[in-house]
Amino acid sequence: MRVSALAICAALAAGTALAQSGDVKRSLTQVTDSVWRFDNNFHVSMVVITDEGAVVGDPINAEAASWLEAEVMSRFGKEVTYMLASHSHGDHGSGGEVFADTATIIAHRNYQKAVGQEFGPTEPADVLFDDNLTLEHGGRTFELTYVGAGHGDDMVVTVVRPDNVAFVVDIVSPGRMPWRNSTSAVDGMISQISAVEALDFDILLPGHAANGTKADATETREYLEELKAKVQTELDAGKSAEDIIATVKMPDYADWANYEEWLPLNVEGVVTALQ
Ligand SMILES: [Zn+2]
Repeated sequence: MRVSALAICAALAAGTALAQSGDVKRSLTQVTDSVWRFDNNFHVSMVVITDEGAVVGDPINAEAASWLEAEVMSRFGKEVTYMLASHSHGDHGSGGEVFADTATIIAHRNYQKAVGQEFGPTEPADVLFDDNLTLEHGGRTFELTYVGAGHGDDMVVTVVRPDNVAFVVDIVSPGRMPWRNSTSAVDGMISQISAVEALDFDILLPGHAANGTKADATETREYLEELKAKVQTELDAGKSAEDIIATVKMPDYADWANYEEWLPLNVEGVVTALQ
């Protein structure tokens, strides 16, 4: 208990420092009975309040995780008992050490080799799995599914039951363009999103952008398939990469956030994949 109390004090101190800096927007918003959405600027994580403790998705970073740990203790009186990592990219996956005193960290087997690397997680996982893992904890069931390689090679989607919420990071961001030139992994992304569509869930809680549903996963997969087909047609016609990047448009998706800014980068990524 003494260790936990010290950890909470450290977390509260970190939270105070951040509040004073005033440039980080954080919030905890209820999604279902037990599932909450944690916003940290433009990154989102999941928190599930169970009878036996709080189960969190990604830590995002050490300051975010410290804020979250203190907030969950003050609002719900719960320790963080599990951390379910979505994938190893450092913008979602650093700061796991904040939860390590009280939580068991679960991740895909490939996560571990990225620990400590540049843009990797900062804390190793305690439990690794290959394809699927089911966790029963505090009256909730967590179904973890490895969705294959594409955006990274250790991407895990967690469905919480009975809430039927899926925590889906980076491969579907409802109403927003895929990140810049991450589309260089277009085939893998399409296959990862297809794996998400095969899961049974009602609410899609993303790592970026607004909450959605399975329809957002389908729309994103269709966008990537259409983009790939358009770029392939242009390449077949002998156009240069510069030409294709400058001319390919996706008007059906013009209302997505970051459309103007990221479309040329999305095209560039797909050109790289197909050349
Ligand atoms: Zn990522």
